Amino acid sequence: MLFRRLAFLCLLVLIQIVVCAEDYYKVLGVEKQATEKQLKSAYRQLSKRFHPDKNPGDETAHEKFVQVSEAYDILSDAETRQIYDRYGHDGVKQHKNGGGGGGGHDPFDLFSRFFGGHGHFGSSSREPRGQNLEVKVEIALRDFYNGATTEFQWNRQQICETCEGTGSADGQVETCSTCGGHGIRIVKQQLAPGMFQQMQMRCDACGGRGKSIKHKCPVCNGQRVERKPTTVTLKIQRGAGRESSVVYENEADESPDWVAGDLIVILTEKAPSPEDNPDNVDGVYFRRKGDDLYWTEVLSLREAWMGGWSRNITHLDSHVVRLGRTRGQVIQSGHVETVPGEGMPKWHEEGESAYHKHDFGNLYVTYQVILPDQMDETMENEFWSLWEKWRANKGVDLHTDSGRPAIVRDEL
Ligand SMILES: [Zn+2]
Ligand SMILES: [Zn+2]
Repeated sequence: MLFRRLAFLCLLVLIQIVVCAEDYYKVLGVEKQATEKQLKSAYRQLSKRFHPDKNPGDETAHEKFVQVSEAYDILSDAETRQIYDRYGHDGVKQHKNGGGGGGGHDPFDLFSRFFGGHGHFGSSSREPRGQNLEVKVEIALRDFYNGATTEFQWNRQQICETCEGTGSADGQVETCSTCGGHGIRIVKQQLAPGMFQQMQMRCDACGGRGKSIKHKCPVCNGQRVERKPTTVTLKIQRGAGRESSVVYENEADESPDWVAGDLIVILTEKAPSPEDNPDNVDGVYFRRKGDDLYWTEVLSLREAWMGGWSRNITHLDSHVVRLGRTRGQVIQSGHVETVPGEGMPKWHEEGESAYHKHDFGNLYVTYQVILPDQMDETMENEFWSLWEKWRANKGVDLHTDSGRPAIVRDEL
């Protein structure tokens, strides 16, 4: 019995070791050759996903959060990364013990370097939050129809990487001597002889932060933040609504004083232009209203009246929609034809998947008949005599058809 229990304990210890020794690259889900940028982006994503504020009571998530930050901590430093690559976990451990100063790192500290604030976020925390930021991005109708992944850039306020948000060149931050670290000063003002008013003023020396820096960081000039172009990958889902938005949690401006607000990207529709349409796709000029599309097709007098025509309209994914009439089928100018299922894909949160296939709205085609404004003289003569021959007994009488009382008239 005792032996069994011991064996079980041994197994537990073994599992623990295995968990601890998880490969840092695997933890971050990157290749061994990953660039600094790739490491950063992996850390950004994973640390947010596993943050304890987002997974209350979930021990595995918490452990993952710690692992991810440990892995990033080691791999983001060129020296420790090299040691890790060569000697693995033990090498890093020895280096830390020998080099001193390294000590344990605080995963929340690292998190706050990326996302601002004090390493927490979520509705439960009382951390101050930065403002949400709205950005409008123009998307071509084709990308709304087919779905697309694109990128855009904006100048984002980021925590200065050089000083890691301290604003100090040497990492030294002292308590402000003017206000003693309170960030405020009490000013006594005399209102009348013997009568004073006490006022609280923001400390000018430290700007109300209670801390002062002797040697300002040269990159951010002591501001602790800098504006840098940031690239955001934007995924447009099939059938996404015009003016619909994509929310990037905590990706608005950063500051050490608050948790970054959300970046909200609003999808607007880009006006069609010939430059964006090298393949001459008709669909580029479709007009969208909700899930339906609209198109105007021009017909000649002969086509509208005699029938016997066809058109191939290239849709937004280049498939062909065929319109047409057989001989003898008349189309009135302004007639609207409904082509079922040729509108926009209807947006669905599961997208196109095993569980969901897209339904489509309708395509509405409005016909516009163009009368010839110039005619060959012989043609005009022939037409005229033809009309003369037939109009007396076969012509359409618009007045009679309108149902209004008869008047004396002799023309069609
Ligand atoms: Zn700086
Ligand atoms: Zn001060």
